[in-house]
Amino acid sequence: METFDLIILGGGLAGMCAAVEAGEAGAHVLLLEKQDELGGSTVLSSGYMAFAGTNMQDMAGITDSIESLIDDMIEVGGGVNDQALIAAYGQRQLESFTWLVQHGVEFRSLEAVSGHSVPRGHIIDPHQAIQTLYRRVKQLPNVEILLNAPAKRLLKNQDGRVDRVLYEVDGTEASAHASKGIIIASGGFAKSEELLAQFAPQLKGALRIGGRGNHGDGIRMACEHGAWLMDLPYLNGTYGFHPTAAGPVKSQGLAFYKGAIMVNQLGKRFVNESISYKLLGKAAFEQPDCVTFQVWDQTVMNKSVHDDPLYDLELLKRRRLLYQADTLEDLADCIDVPLEVLEETISRYNQGIQNGEDPDFGRKSLTHNYGNPTPIEKAPFYAFESTVAMLATYAGVSVNTKAQVVNPFGEPILGLFAAGEVTGGFHGAGYMTGSSLGKCAVFGQIAVQEALKEVTLK
Ligand SMILES: Cc1cc2nc3c(=O)[nH]c(=O)nc-3n(C[C@H](O)[C@H](O)[C@H](O)COP(=O)(O)OP(=O)(O)OC[C@H]3O[C@@H](n4cnc5c(N)ncnc54)[C@H](O)[C@@H]3O)c2cc1C
Repeated sequence: METFDLIILGGGLAGMCAAVEAGEAGAHVLLLEKQDELGGSTVLSSGYMAFAGTNMQDMAGITDSIESLIDDMIEVGGGVNDQALIAAYGQRQLESFTWLVQHGVEFRSLEAVSGHSVPRGHIIDPHQAIQTLYRRVKQLPNVEILLNAPAKRLLKNQDGRVDRVLYEVDGTEASAHASKGIIIASGGFAKSEELLAQFAPQLKGALRIGGRGNHGDGIRMACEHGAWLMDLPYLNGTYGFHPTAAGPVKSQGLAFYKGAIMVNQLGKRFVNESISYKLLGKAAFEQPDCVTFQVWDQTVMNKSVHDDPLYDLELLKRRRLLYQADTLEDLADCIDVPLEVLEETISRYNQGIQNGEDPDFGRKSLTHNYGNPTPIEKAPFYAFESTVAMLATYAGVSVNTKAQVVNPFGEPILGLFAAGEVTGGFHGAGYMTGSSLGKCAVFGQIAVQEALKEVTLK
């Protein structure tokens, strides 16, 4: 059996950041990827990464701080997220941003999305990011990547340290030994009907979008060795997808964070549209037949952001996914909601926000604490049928700030580390956009540094 310093399970953003970090530190590394290509859910993502205090924000005149980032994450997470993990993220995120830039990952623009008090969603092209990290790995002879190589089980040695991986490669069984650590970076379980049925039965009707290999393998392997799990009760879908989005074209639009309202089939609003799109998803699921629409006017349409994964509303129009009408009467007819109710809904909303007080749901901002809602009054009017997708399972194995997997007593399971979507505890009850890709980079690097340190110190 071949021995490596580190074995990394999974080649999404967390695994690839770990592979580069470890390779550059001179470690002998094996990365196992279950699929025939790298990327996992990462390459399907919208590419927002949450960082605060970057030069991009400075150049855009945006004042942000680690404190504000941490406050937002705790507020969005309902205060039940692990504050030590959030603090570690706050402390390390700027370093990870710089590291990514130095490694050639391109950040193209900034937006305010779910949970942001200021624009801090730094947008990458996730394919470019994975390819760039892969190119770096190829320059490192000490890092080996195997595709079509699913890890199956982990084994402990006589001292109770997890140090071996049983895996398959192209259908043949194999095993490898890790002298310094095994890093689970195998993503979530958005594609496992079995685990979703077990842990999130409330999301039965949600679209499924996520990496093909994301079946929660890493969670099972870690649980076998005593890992504790966190955040499972808070599993939610994400609102804003067109009902066809699980097909080849993943159409999504977050017009509500630019000022749209959300109405149900009865023509009524049902939620404060500025809250996390995870919580919007929960509210949307409770509406009659789960049918809901985002409704906006030309003022909101003018805020469409060309080529943005979430805010390119003009693209939705070009794809013929929007209803457009010159009058509310025609719009109500298009989407089959009662005109009088829709008119009353919009008039009440407009009056409310103009008086600074949305009487029904207390909306005060576009997203979280950012931006001012505008009245829906300028024709043409638009509607986008929207639904909920299960695209990322922000719950999983419990880790400490060293990215060590811990048992139900908070004690590290020796030799075992985890980073990325496979971990729980970080998001708590809600998710701030960009914090998942962000935590992949931050904790992917931390896992490597701690694994190498742990053994060096012995
Ligand atoms: C449509 C969509 C939009 C999103 N937008 C954003 C966003 O804008 N910002 C944000 O922060 N987050 C976003 N997310 C979530 C984010 O993309 C993921 O949480 C993140 O990419 C997870 O990265 P990861 O490296 O942990 O896992 P992944 O990228 O999923 O990689 C895990 C890899 O492990 C492999 N694997 C699984 N099991 C095994 C095994 N047994 N052995 C070996 N390999 C295995 C998988 O095949 C996969 O390649 C989005 C997700 C989706 C689907």
